Amino acid sequence: MTIEILTVLPELLESPFAHSILKRANEKGLLQVRLHSLRKWAVNDYGQVDDYQYGGGAGMVMMCEPLASAIEALAGEKKFDEVIYMTPDGERLNQRIANQLSLKENLLIICGHYKGIDERIREHYITREISIGDYVLSGGELPAAILVDAIGRLIPGVLNDETSALFDSFQDNLLAPPVYTRPAIFRDWKVPDILLSGDPKKVDEWRHEQSLFRTSRRRPDLLDDEGL
Ligand code: SAH
Repeated sequence: MTIEILTVLPELLESPFAHSILKRANEKGLLQVRLHSLRKWAVNDYGQVDDYQYGGGAGMVMMCEPLASAIEALAGEKKFDEVIYMTPDGERLNQRIANQLSLKENLLIICGHYKGIDERIREHYITREISIGDYVLSGGELPAAILVDAIGRLIPGVLNDETSALFDSFQDNLLAPPVYTRPAIFRDWKVPDILLSGDPKKVDEWRHEQSLFRTSRRRPDLLDDEGL
């Protein structure tokens, strides 16, 4: 899979993809993330990509021209399955969306800044709008990094044990069970006996029960939600 990210701050996105799982995904050729500076398509030599908003009011808006030129240039090289705009008024990111997007080949993600991007770009180029939650950040870079991380770890072969993503929270509308590692007794806090029993069937049953219990206590809404 290839993910292109269009941003005014590519530096902000260098680190998230240069370590750990996403770095490995890149090295294995499973996920390529390319950063593009929108300033390359600026309207003048000052690197301008934003302007005052019509109707007045504080805050700049990202202009049509650089965005349209950039999107057209990138779309000229290959066909994107989705052109995604990160925005607080988009559909809220969840595991179902991450699963869907992990099956795509080519994605383009647009990071907004300031007051956001000119509405006409949203109408004419964007195919999907995604929010990472009901709060407002100053730019779309961190949201884009979150989206790419959520997608990237689902691509088969990216995690060492391919099945491990399947047991994470939300994959089957359930939260993950509690996990423990050595030592078996820390201070006088013991690991549940069943995990030390060596009986995989019992362990599976216990984990499933714990998942159900945790979900019903913490996120009962997930148990009613068939949509994931
Ligand atoms: N005025 C806009 C917010 C702009 S915030 C509004 O009220 O809706 C600037 C940029 O940060 C946005 O264009 C978007 O790309 C990004 N952003 C901020 N919060 C976000 C969120 N919760 N999810 C996804 N992107 C977000």
